Amino acid sequence: MRNFNFSAGPSMLPLEVLEKVRQGLTDYEGTGMSVMEMSHRSKPYQAINDEAEASLRELMNVPENYDIIFVQGGASMQFEAIPLNIHKSGKADYVVTGNFSGKAYKEAKKYGDMAEAASSADKNFTYIPRLNKSMFRPDADYVHICYNNTIFGTRYSEIPDTGNIPLAGDISSCILSQEIDVSKFGVLYAGAQKNVGPAGVTIVIVRKDLQDLANPICPTMMKWSTQIKEKSLYNTPPCFSTYVAMEVFRWLKKNGGVKWIQKINEDKAAMLYDFIDNSAFYSNSVEKPYRSLMNVPFVTPSEDLDKEFVAQAAKEGLLSLKGHRLVGGMRASIYNAMPVDGVKKLIEFMAKFEKANK
Ligand SMILES: *Cc1c(COP(=O)(O)O)cnc(C)c1O
Repeated sequence: MRNFNFSAGPSMLPLEVLEKVRQGLTDYEGTGMSVMEMSHRSKPYQAINDEAEASLRELMNVPENYDIIFVQGGASMQFEAIPLNIHKSGKADYVVTGNFSGKAYKEAKKYGDMAEAASSADKNFTYIPRLNKSMFRPDADYVHICYNNTIFGTRYSEIPDTGNIPLAGDISSCILSQEIDVSKFGVLYAGAQKNVGPAGVTIVIVRKDLQDLANPICPTMMKWSTQIKEKSLYNTPPCFSTYVAMEVFRWLKKNGGVKWIQKINEDKAAMLYDFIDNSAFYSNSVEKPYRSLMNVPFVTPSEDLDKEFVAQAAKEGLLSLKGHRLVGGMRASIYNAMPVDGVKKLIEFMAKFEKANK
């Protein structure tokens, strides 16, 4: 039996994709072996690598002057790769809207003169600060933002205008969940384990003019140009994760792409937020314009009830609803692969729990 897994990541994958992967697990398309056992230099793997790249380009409408690479190290390694790869003045500006953007800022400080251009720490990261060009240093090498804040449940309602300064965006928890105008960014990156596939592969999308600026101390393995030149095959890539990602891209394309899933995501999120807003028992403290489509934190009137909620929900097959330790309460992560029925079942359970406990 499949449960509804509301984990913030790794998270659910579409059942159809898992079944497809199972079919080829011991014999992938007549090769007599699994993708896990296959040389990354073999023809079948080359085809997987090429298709994954081409499909992602199509799904995200990535312009020609950007390269896409599949690398290891997670989104967290890009926190350091960014200051090491985009190095001119050695200055960069960070917008701190939660845990991951804070970590990115902290790591970058090791490599240059980094500044916090804005932060929402004053209200425990329940909103996104208003940004304008004048808040950034004109000679900054880039401005870094985290588009969707996985822990605090916020997202940008618009892409900030940084003028000529390249914008670097962490899209780990919102990639492929909504349309994103890639051309507004210099670099975008995302770990796979929320909306794309199994952990292990990380997507980096880099504009061509930012590919030749690396700090000389940048490790070869972290230099984007290393993998760009070799089409992500400089060393052994996370083959199986990339393969599953390719199947997820096929699933999205077959059904109508990002437009299709965005509509479903908006419907799912609206159902859940409406229920919370209409209840005197549950609450979500994020300012409405900045509410995440993907991660919905909420609380009951007491910490004891929160604990009870998580325990009882798990018994009904609604898993991993415990909030992050920085926020407490609950968090429902409703990524692309979470079916509408999962959200409906969660809301039914919430109503039942409220009745029994108010
Ligand atoms: C999960 C997450 C990360 C960390 O990703 P790793 O792949 O574990 O390094 C970074 N940023 C955001 C926004 C995330 O959601």
